[in-house]
Amino acid sequence: MRDEIVEDEDVRLAVYRRFAETGLEPTVGWLTTAVETDDGSLRSALRRLEGQRHVVLGGGDRILMAHPFTSVPMGFAVMGDHTLWWGGCAWDSFALPHLVPGEPSVLVSTTCPNCARPLAWTVGREKPPPGKEVAHFLTPAAHMWDDVLHTCSNQRIFCDAECIDAWVAREGLQRGYVMNLPMLWRLAAGWYAGRLDRGYTRREPAAAAGYFREAGLDGSFWGL
Ligand SMILES: [Zn+2]
Ligand SMILES: [Zn+2]
Repeated sequence: MRDEIVEDEDVRLAVYRRFAETGLEPTVGWLTTAVETDDGSLRSALRRLEGQRHVVLGGGDRILMAHPFTSVPMGFAVMGDHTLWWGGCAWDSFALPHLVPGEPSVLVSTTCPNCARPLAWTVGREKPPPGKEVAHFLTPAAHMWDDVLHTCSNQRIFCDAECIDAWVAREGLQRGYVMNLPMLWRLAAGWYAGRLDRGYTRREPAAAAGYFREAGLDGSFWGL
């Protein structure tokens, strides 16, 4: 049992470091070589990691996400001094400079889902970027993992509240949670801390609620 746990953590770390250091998708083939195991053991480890929500797998055990990293486009690109990433959602994109060593400041770019206007911010560790734009989260926290790709794909940044309202009406959706850039930055700053380190464990629900509250979030949307 102990060996299995160590091996899963080796795989998890290899996935995260590959994403962090290169922005590239860690493929099954690459991982098998990196952790020196066989194809079957690697795939089994990935499925256990998926069960623990460390990775999101697609067909053929392709790694689609290892939050905050993603191998598929979700509307954001993040450019550091050395590395270019797909950004995941707004939350994930704003988290990258806090998480990745050697990339304390990144360019986060996207387009407004309503009017397609190009939007970009230089996001660092010290303080939130200036800007009047607002982030819209469609899926309440309790359901974020029901379909996490859909959830992340719908955590976007809009020009303003008018663009959110127009988009929600056009798509026939219910307005979710809206936050300004400082709140998004606070939410992203520490949420993924530790994921590049050995022995990382996910936050318990009570700790997550405390973190959300400290970031300034409120209401049933966040389970608070
Ligand atoms: Zn807009
Ligand atoms: Zn996300």
